[in-house]
Formats: sequence, structure tokens, C-alpha cells
Amino acid sequence: QGPIPTSMRASVLLEQGVIEMQERPVPTPGDGEVLVRVGSVGVCGSDVHYYKHGRIGDMVVTAPIVLGHEVSGTVVGVGRGVSEDRVGDRVALDPQVPCRQCRQCKTGRSNLCPFMEFYATPPFDGTFCDYVTAPADQAFTVPDSLSDESAALLEPLSVGLWAAHKADVGPGDQVLIAGAGPIGAMCAQAVRARGVTDVVVTDFVDSRRERITSFGASRSLHPVADAAEIAEIRADAFIDCSGATPAVVSGIRSTRGGGTVVLVGLGAEEMPLPVQLIATREINVTGVFRYVDTWPRGIALTTSGAVHLDDMVTARYPLEQVEDALNADSDPLSMKAVVVVNPSQD
Ligand code: NAD
Ligand code: ZN
Repeated sequence: QGPIPTSMRASVLLEQGVIEMQERPVPTPGDGEVLVRVGSVGVCGSDVHYYKHGRIGDMVVTAPIVLGHEVSGTVVGVGRGVSEDRVGDRVALDPQVPCRQCRQCKTGRSNLCPFMEFYATPPFDGTFCDYVTAPADQAFTVPDSLSDESAALLEPLSVGLWAAHKADVGPGDQVLIAGAGPIGAMCAQAVRARGVTDVVVTDFVDSRRERITSFGASRSLHPVADAAEIAEIRADAFIDCSGATPAVVSGIRSTRGGGTVVLVGLGAEEMPLPVQLIATREINVTGVFRYVDTWPRGIALTTSGAVHLDDMVTARYPLEQVEDALNADSDPLSMKAVVVVNPSQD
């Protein structure tokens, strides 16, 4: 595949709504790092949000930034302390770089590290470019049977795996999920993979409701037309992947006594909740922020066929068309747009 060039292509968000292709120097892997030639990058709702609104809450784009964080590729170089044997590995990257020193990091909550560096979260550049560096232990080798796209989508799958872990459900349990977007679909597949067979998913969008039954849902319901049926449910766990206040409230009401509510969706900053019901039903309410060490699990589940990621890709774009990829979600049939930065050579 030849020597590593000194400069590379990068798709840069200059400011809200403005993307430009630039030539940038290829980064040098530091101690303990690998240099990865980027293969595929999935488009996440957060990339779309930064592009269209220039911010997510208090994370504001104040300087040019490279978006993209759902990433796979091939190791092409190593920094000090990393075995040369890793060169040539096809890898999926856990985009989190925690400090590894703080109390959160040392007690298994590295996702909550206050010193976290994360691709495509200001001020850190992401992966819509030819080469990125990553800590060697965050670059997980994937088997040949896993496509570049599937390897990239291990990132959103990880959100689902962590939500399912938080829900702590298993065979015989019933799970209610609000929102049939990519994250709802990842959660549905993740709870399935834990042996849950009764997975009810709600969404307003007909096409998403229909499609979700091929991504882990056993039943899909309309939040309004099927409201009476939803009200009857007493799920062991409710996972919100909509961020919509009515969905969160109705989901809590449809959670059994002693059940668990997992909040994944990020919608309104504050919302009124039925707290008396939460108290008297002893419902456990918990949040999800990304994930902790989910790649080994994700690789095992996709490789074994328990989880399907390839079927989720609804559109592909080259690096020059990142802007089109970021606008792909205007089509309600869009599930996952992928930017193929460097197509596989075999
Ligand atoms: P999405 O917008 O594609 O999907 C949300 C879905 O919810 C849509 O299909 C929408 O029609 C549906 N919806 C809206 N109101 C509803 C209601 N009342 N009842 C049922 N469904 C309703 O978004 P996504 O990419 O799938 O992400 C889902 C959410 O997860 C977003 O809020 C995103 O910010 C959040 N997220 C959180 C984390 C985390 O770490 N906590 C990580 C990734 C994404
Ligand atoms: Zn830390």
C-alpha cells in the first residue's frame, strides 16, 4: 500500500453550515498510539447537529473542526511502545480518550472522565480525513468477516450495548423502547442479544416503525394511535431513545414496579416527570453517556451474527461529499449514512 504520505485530505467544518476540503499534515502517532488509515465513518446525529446548528448544548464550534467519530480503518504505523505487529490490523476505534488517572477512570466509569478527549467534540478533530491517531488499546482488531462499515458502526452499537447493560435485562423480560432511529435500533438489537424476546418499540414515523422489526423489535407501536396499548404495558425496562418529553413520561408510566428506566435520548434539557409514580413504584432511573469498554462485546456479537450492522447502512458517500452525507437524514427512510473515506483494497 506504499509509504505514508506527509499530507492528507480532511473534510473540515469551518463554521455552522460550511464544509471545506483541506490538505492537512498526516498526524504522527505518539507514545502508545497507532496511526490508522481511515476506512469507513458513520454519520451520527451529533455530527449533523454540529453542522446544522454549530453547537450541542454548551459544546460550541468556535474554530474549524473535523467531524466524524464512528470509525474503522487499518493500522499503518505505530508510536513508541507499540508492537510493529499491529501494522496491517483492521481495526475499529473506541473514540474516547479518557485521562486514565482520575477517580472516574480508576473506578470503571471512564466515560464520565472530566478530562475526556473525544473525536469531533470541540476542540478535538474527528475522523472525516485520511489518517487519525488513537491509543493502541482503543484500536480493536476486527475479524476479516466484519466489513469496514460494520466495524465503524460498533460505535453506535456500543451506545445500545451500554444501555442494555444499564437496563440489566435478560430472557423472559419485556423491554419498551421509544424511538426507532439508529440508536433505538441499536438498543433493540442489544437487548435481543441479551436474550430478551419481547421488545416493543414506539415511533411516529411509519417507515421507521415498519423497519425496526428487522432490527430487534418484536412489536412496534404508534405513540398516539396505540396509546391505550402502550398504557397497558408494564415493562421490566424502558429505554428512551427519542429525547421526547411525552415519550419519556409515557415510558415511565409503562414501567413495572421495581423496573428500570434508561435515558439515552438527549432532548429537552429539563422536563416534568411523574416523580410520585417513580417513588411509589420504586423505579430506578438511570442515564447513559456513551459506553465503557463495549468493543469486545460488540465484535463478538456482530461476528457471531447476533447483531446485524451492515443492513443499517442506507447511503454511502465519498469523503468529498461529507456535506451530502450530513444532509442525508432529511430523508425519513435514512437510517445510517456512511462516508467511505478509503475503500477496502481487496
Ligand atoms: P433520531 O432522531 O434518528 O431518532 C429519534 C426517533 O424518536 C425518531 O425516529 C422520532 O420519530 C422518534 N420520536 C420522536 N418523538 C417520539 C415519541 N413521542 N415517541 C416515540 N418516538 C418518538 O436519533 P438517533 O440518532 O436514533 O438518537 C436518538 C437519541 O439518542 C438522540 O436524542 C441522541 O441525541 C441520543 N444519543 C445519546 C447518546 C448518549 O450517549 N446518551 C449517544 C448517541 C445518541
Ligand atoms: Zn479520567
